[in-house]
Amino acid sequence: MSTRSRPRMIAALAAVSLIAACSGNGGGGTGGDGGNYPEQNITIVVPFSAGGPTDTVTRMIADPMAAALGGKIVVQNVEGAGGTVGAGQVARAEPDGYTVLMHHIGMSTAPALYKDLGYQPLEDFETVGLVTEVPMTVVARKDFEPATFQDLVTYVKANATKVTLANAGIGAASHLCGLLFQSAAGVKLQEVPYQGTGPALTDLVGGQVDFMCDQTTNTSGQIAAGKVKAYAVTTPERVKSLADVPTTAEAGMPQLAVSVWHGLYVPADTSPEIVQKLSGALKTALADQAVIDQMAKLGTAPVTAADATPEAHRAQLDEQLQTWAKVIADAGVKAS
Ligand code: ASP
Repeated sequence: MSTRSRPRMIAALAAVSLIAACSGNGGGGTGGDGGNYPEQNITIVVPFSAGGPTDTVTRMIADPMAAALGGKIVVQNVEGAGGTVGAGQVARAEPDGYTVLMHHIGMSTAPALYKDLGYQPLEDFETVGLVTEVPMTVVARKDFEPATFQDLVTYVKANATKVTLANAGIGAASHLCGLLFQSAAGVKLQEVPYQGTGPALTDLVGGQVDFMCDQTTNTSGQIAAGKVKAYAVTTPERVKSLADVPTTAEAGMPQLAVSVWHGLYVPADTSPEIVQKLSGALKTALADQAVIDQMAKLGTAPVTAADATPEAHRAQLDEQLQTWAKVIADAGVKAS
């Protein structure tokens, strides 16, 4: 049940990892039954900066989804507050299928972190489908002193007051991964927030910050080009496209295990027909060989067709909200 008409209320630390019905169809919304959908451009809101990993994944699937729908998709970056500004904008949008949100794991962490979030993930959105689950990497400016992940841990402990750790704001995947790192290393570092890890990576390459965690969808190219130093991947298995980079478990920090799931959302009360059309187009895009190849190059893969569904996505969101609520409460972290 949506909270649209009510005042808006506002992975594991240990093992982290659209549409309204017109009066005749009984759906209770306002966006039509989806018969002629889409009749205008669809906007996918990315709640982080252009050029970052969430943006990259969105742009990979936008054209094949648009082709499957027989329409046009525009990607819009609405940054701020760890992805909560963009998510809030979509929660308040018309439930007509023309405003879609691409979000990641941050959808499930924000309620535990922000006092006045302004939306509730399960109540204010319809889930469309999962998209991909992306490993993270721990990366540093290329001239950062530590040579290995073990050296990094020793170094940051000895230099805690001067080492800088970039992230994409409170609740972002990079922030959570950084929390896990600091908690496992037993250290508190200076965190430098950005509007997304696109600009954070630019600063890392430029040497303005020391290190950060980020998805392979953003870091793979810079690692391959030798512009950043890769210490570890945060998945239990090595990432095929980064075969030389050890896992955090191999490097002695198994607690730093996190991968970043992404999903598409529309505002609550979007009609089921439109949600199904979007989910169908998502499945088509994820089966596109060019998308599969691009993702593989960047260390990830599309989810299965069964996971690119509203039901699988909702189940994942529900489970992750519970997991992160506990993890964040235990960690005692708050954004506001
Ligand atoms: N990777 C970012 C994060 O830390 C978000 C982004 O820029 O896509 O959550």
